[in-house]
Amino acid sequence: MIGIVGGGISGLFLLHFLRERGVDAVLFEAAEVPGGVMKSLTVQGPSGSVTADLGPQRMRLTAGLGQVVDRVGLRSLVLRAPTGIPFTVLHAGRLIRAPVSVREALSTPLISTAGKIRALRDLFTAAPRPDESVAEALTRKLGREISTRLAAPLLGGLYASDPARMEARDTLIPALERAGGGRSLLLALRRAAKWERIPVVSFTGGMGALPHALVERHREHVHLGAPVTGIERRPPGGFDLVAGNQRVAVDEVVLTLPAPEAAPLVRSISPDAGDRLAALRYNPLAVVPLVAADDTGLGAGLRRMGSGFKVTLEDDFATRGVTAHEALFDRKGLFTAFLGGMGREEVLDRPDREILEIARTDFRRITGTDATPLLVHRTRMPAWDRSWRALDGLELPKGIRLCAAYTDRPGIPGRLESARRTAEKIASA
Ligand SMILES: Cc1cc2nc3c(=O)[nH]c(=O)nc-3n(C[C@H](O)[C@H](O)[C@H](O)COP(=O)(O)OP(=O)(O)OC[C@H]3O[C@@H](n4cnc5c(N)ncnc54)[C@H](O)[C@@H]3O)c2cc1C
Repeated sequence: MIGIVGGGISGLFLLHFLRERGVDAVLFEAAEVPGGVMKSLTVQGPSGSVTADLGPQRMRLTAGLGQVVDRVGLRSLVLRAPTGIPFTVLHAGRLIRAPVSVREALSTPLISTAGKIRALRDLFTAAPRPDESVAEALTRKLGREISTRLAAPLLGGLYASDPARMEARDTLIPALERAGGGRSLLLALRRAAKWERIPVVSFTGGMGALPHALVERHREHVHLGAPVTGIERRPPGGFDLVAGNQRVAVDEVVLTLPAPEAAPLVRSISPDAGDRLAALRYNPLAVVPLVAADDTGLGAGLRRMGSGFKVTLEDDFATRGVTAHEALFDRKGLFTAFLGGMGREEVLDRPDREILEIARTDFRRITGTDATPLLVHRTRMPAWDRSWRALDGLELPKGIRLCAAYTDRPGIPGRLESARRTAEKIASA
């Protein structure tokens, strides 16, 4: 019997793949609602109810994800974004289409001609070094303009982190390897462009539909509202998982919960491993769904944004990015703003009513359109910064594994692959 701690998407994917391989497993989730950060709410907007996603806003429907979606009976609820919608970067007060091809890169007004020529040095300079910061590696290879106006906002959108505080070995080098290796970031980007062909999707009812459907499929193996408070060794091998007044004997434990919550559980069995997990930093973020006043169709400022925008490091807004649900999934007038992260954490010290006002003002200044912010959801993202060095010497006790967003790719397709690999290892053992 395998005990899974955490019923976010990592834990639920893992349960699914273990059950598909005939491995007995039980999952404990602290909250009454599954999905962790993958959470959707129906909220009252100014002119009717809207579906607001408070964590991931969309995902790439890879072949693996498509199979799971079919297995849990969600195919008819898939909302597919139109192909080819651009996303934009806010620079010097303008929303500029982000280049996704060589032709667009050559003509984009986001980068000066000198900046474009400078980027060619990428082809002749050494690959990113493991101990270089991401900002240093990007600037050395592509030049400061591309680094601050394009690469950093995109990476910041993925990790909500300041590239100056991230080491290349944790994110940039693995991404380069996944794109086929080599020393050139430009060539890797070109090869990775095939990723752009994978459909972007959500579900009617929001992203939270997927974790709910996974729980429905494996209901008898899931305990909701059951925080694990202890992991105790059970001689001669195995563990007891303690959750409220339940004590369940398992052969192995897989931790899928965030590092700050995993640390105290691990510490009771291995103090060193627990301390290392506790050292990982997370960046606080505020997620604010907004409904644009212009519900008669997208105004020019909103249309220009495409599927959403990111703010460059040179522009000083607390809003670091916005996702446009109207353009993506035809959700009338709905946008999601992300505030904080990337060295702008101080906005999270403000009370909710001030964050709502900042989101409203930023949105109006950037798009020229009034919008009503609906709520503030405070969340966090693994920072993938220098604190990740704590993982270098991490040795987990035998029988305890991690399958978590901070040790592998954090995006949902990445979580699926990581869960599948973990399930395969367990099943073959
Ligand atoms: C704001 C935001 C936006 C994102 N946007 C995207 C996107 O657009 N596309 C994309 O692909 N990815 C996106 N991601 C990344 C992706 O959503 C996450 O990496 C992924 O959902 C993390 O899932 P998880 O299961 O690993 O962790 P979590 O979702 O954090 O789940 C961990 C679970 O463990 C539970 N738990 C904690 N303590 C205990 C305990 N003691 N006992 C039992 N259970 C416990 C928690 O309640 C939680 O449910 C985004 C992430 C965030 C935060």
